[in-house]
Amino acid sequence: MKSQEYIKIEDRFGAHNYHPLDVVISKGKGVWVYDVEGKKYLDCLSAYSALNQGHVHPAILKAMVDQAKKVTLTSRAFRNDQLPLFYKELADMTGYEMSIPMNSGAEAVETALKLARKWGYAVKGIERYKAEIIVANGNFHGRTISIISFSSEQFYKNDFGPFTPGFVNVAYGDAAAIEKAITPNTAAVMLEPIQGEGGVLIPPAGYLKQVAEICKKNNVLLVADEIQTGLGRTGKLFACDHEGVRPDMVIIGKALSGGFLPISAVLADQPIMGLFQPGEHGSTFGGSALAAAVGRAALKVIRDEHLVENSAKMGDYFMSKLRGIQSPHIKEIRGKGLLIGVELKPEAGGARRFCEALMQKQILAKETHENVIRFAPPCIIDQKTIDWAMVRITEVLQMK
Ligand SMILES: *Cc1c(COP(=O)(O)O)cnc(C)c1O
Repeated sequence: MKSQEYIKIEDRFGAHNYHPLDVVISKGKGVWVYDVEGKKYLDCLSAYSALNQGHVHPAILKAMVDQAKKVTLTSRAFRNDQLPLFYKELADMTGYEMSIPMNSGAEAVETALKLARKWGYAVKGIERYKAEIIVANGNFHGRTISIISFSSEQFYKNDFGPFTPGFVNVAYGDAAAIEKAITPNTAAVMLEPIQGEGGVLIPPAGYLKQVAEICKKNNVLLVADEIQTGLGRTGKLFACDHEGVRPDMVIIGKALSGGFLPISAVLADQPIMGLFQPGEHGSTFGGSALAAAVGRAALKVIRDEHLVENSAKMGDYFMSKLRGIQSPHIKEIRGKGLLIGVELKPEAGGARRFCEALMQKQILAKETHENVIRFAPPCIIDQKTIDWAMVRITEVLQMK
């Protein structure tokens, strides 16, 4: 079947909750994907950073197939021989004492919110059901009803209320605004260290550090959503590491499976994670033997292939090459590691047409918000491939 036929079927039978580029991918390998006509593309989105290890990484594939032949799901009603090792290796790598496995990122965010509220009641002594959680405008934490309740993007919420109370929005990048919003009922501040979906927005230097100090001073938890920024994407294991900040809770997902399965987790030390009692929270597939085996392999690739270091190095190279492009359309280039945003001027006609032109030239990137092209290739990318891409990116950014 041809691409156009697949697209027709998808549009006829599937919900139209995305606006994908019209490329029908049937194969992926490393940084490359291939469409059903056999045309090759460089993946510069990495499934929103779920593919830091690249497509179909052979070591993760092997772990997945081997485990699938043994046992996939025990449910947490019983134990299995993979989950303990996943916990242990996650702790060794991240420095957090404990974790709780979930599936999607949104689910891990919900889990962190529940845990933050519980901490607010059980430890801080907030009156029951009065806990507040401070979040930033421009946030993206997922699509559940509670999470969209505190989105500042009206389009995400228009037809989907009523909403979950207990959230307070403040401007992103403004630490003083957080301090002002804190009340005796504040349990936590939850932030993305870089707002990826918000347009690769990097807060002012020192922001995270200041927020961490404010949280500490006021007995408020700091929760970092590192689902997109974590596990090497920004050139550190976590984006918070750029400012030496260690949040009380870190939420991870996406690259935790290298793109094989939905695997997410919340990380925290024992005094916080230890608050969950049996039966208070759970997930049938969270922490399955298959997920744990895949997660272990995905972490091992990040470590063994030095993806954090490569992301820092190749990110610098990618960004320096982008900065060398003479284009009337570029307003700003910003990023950390391999999470890079090219913001176009409003009169450039929107990022979408540039992404479509890039696709014609075998580069897959996606607009985020109106005017930002996000470049986030797998963290395994090398200099030669970036050079290959840059010729094409230059041509597109210089088009009329
Ligand atoms: C992708 C993302 C989520 C949601 O993850 P899903 O797996 O799509 O539910 C939450 N937070 C951030 C920062 C993300 O990038």
